[in-house]
Amino acid sequence: METVVKPRVKGFICTTAHPKGLFSLVEQAFGNAREKRVENFKGRKALIIGASQGYGLATRIALASALGMDTIGIALEKPPKGNKTATAGWYNTVAFHQAVSKEPSSHYSVNADAFSVGTMEKIAALIEKKFGKIDYLIYSLAAPRRIADGKQYRSYIKPIGEKFVSKTLDFVNEKVTVIEVDPATQQEIDSTVKVMGGENWEEWVEFLFIRKLISENFKTYAYSYIGPEVTFPIYRAGTIGKAKEDLEERAKKLNRLLAPIKGSAQISVNKAVVTQSSAAIPAVPLYIALLYKVMKEKGTHENVWDHMLRFVVSHIVENKVPIDDENRVRMDSWEMDSEIQNEIKERWNKINEDNLLELSDVRGYNIDFFRIFGFEVEGVDYEQPVEIDISW
Ligand code: NAD
Repeated sequence: METVVKPRVKGFICTTAHPKGLFSLVEQAFGNAREKRVENFKGRKALIIGASQGYGLATRIALASALGMDTIGIALEKPPKGNKTATAGWYNTVAFHQAVSKEPSSHYSVNADAFSVGTMEKIAALIEKKFGKIDYLIYSLAAPRRIADGKQYRSYIKPIGEKFVSKTLDFVNEKVTVIEVDPATQQEIDSTVKVMGGENWEEWVEFLFIRKLISENFKTYAYSYIGPEVTFPIYRAGTIGKAKEDLEERAKKLNRLLAPIKGSAQISVNKAVVTQSSAAIPAVPLYIALLYKVMKEKGTHENVWDHMLRFVVSHIVENKVPIDDENRVRMDSWEMDSEIQNEIKERWNKINEDNLLELSDVRGYNIDFFRIFGFEVEGVDYEQPVEIDISW
């Protein structure tokens, strides 16, 4: 069905997605990554969990385009229904297959719940049939809920111990507002760890290891974030931070499991970027708007595609990205640079409605937010009807 698609924003989410805009962005990212082509990774095989958006999609594009790898991507997205568009990740996945179709490599995408054992079985059968074994597993899941042992767990974004009161950004109306979030209960903390911690990552690696579906020298990465002082109470010292601590601990356990096959598990601490998940965290959008401005001024800004292209080329291929004492890949070292952070701290204290445009990149934030859903893309005529019934 063809229809004119306009953005419909509800809080920090847009409920529509524009296929043409998303196709164009994925194609551009694929073309940029192709320019960094490295030939000696061809034929290697990667499984990406959370492959349709944000960091997972960007990693998949970089692995397939810059390194010519074969990939399997798992995501949980909604198809189009009647006059309702599909979710952005649905169209991104179609766009990925279109962009990669000119390559000789093989790619498979599965729309399923990564938390379910049925999905693990399905993926194991796919790996066995099509790839034999996998060499890389990228864990880039950001999920609001998980069903396990017949129970539903939710992921909460809350501080621990004390109420969080902070400035935040109403990016649609370009306003600085104040937000208050009550502290989490122990049940909410545990539930968040169950969803966003490392249990599911560990289950996936163990499952594939036992089935002998991972190769010698296999590598797995999961993505984490640390961030600045201003977001500490709501992020790293909050419920999500507890989940990230759990994720990081699991890397150590997985390293012991993988030692006999000379495999490794590592955390990559990535930069704060605009994604559906980061838009939902109070205070983070204001911090990102400041970060983008300051990093653009210093010439070190990267969007999600460039950041993961650097991860793949400078870390996976060249092993040049700094590694910290906890064995984490510090992709965020440019973000956490003290000059950048000091400048943000000063601006954070001063920022208000009158100087928002001058001190922060609220416009850049806005554009990146709408681009997640395929809007604000140059060359797309948003007044024209577009086919939305596109199958995966
Ligand atoms: P995102 O919201 O852009 O993408 C999440 C992906 O997970 C999508 O592909 C979605 O389909 C998939 N997904 C969600 N639930 C699923 C399920 N049950 N089964 C299968 N797939 C499912 O998220 P993102 O911001 O790219 O985050 C990915 C990871 O990177 C997270 O661990 C996040 O903490 C981390 N990270 C994000 C940032 C940031 O600023 N966005 C910074 C550092 C680290």
